[in-house]
Amino acid sequence: MTDVNSLRVRLWRRYAELGGDLAEIEADLREPLDADFAEQANELEEQVALEALESRKLREMADIRAALARIADGSYGTCVVCGEPIAEARLQALPTAITCIGCAGKGEQA
Ligand SMILES: [Zn+2]
Repeated sequence: MTDVNSLRVRLWRRYAELGGDLAEIEADLREPLDADFAEQANELEEQVALEALESRKLREMADIRAALARIADGSYGTCVVCGEPIAEARLQALPTAITCIGCAGKGEQA
């Protein structure tokens, strides 16, 4: 039996951590550009990288919210493709997993 409670705690912690990271990224993005043009080019490049990082973190937060919703409605830990239970080791390694390892391997679900 999967220890859903400890996974839920981990998901919440990760969620809070991501929220903190995002606040930092947004503060960086809001910093005014340097007056020097060459420096501006560097800063704009950095912004593009930060925005990519930001969207990855936002996606992870959405996955975590979905996992928490599945915990709440009792469907957590069940593969959305084949309906079989997801192995505990897989959930421990990837608490936001929505497919069993077999279905993930088939590439039916990202
Ligand atoms: Zn499956």
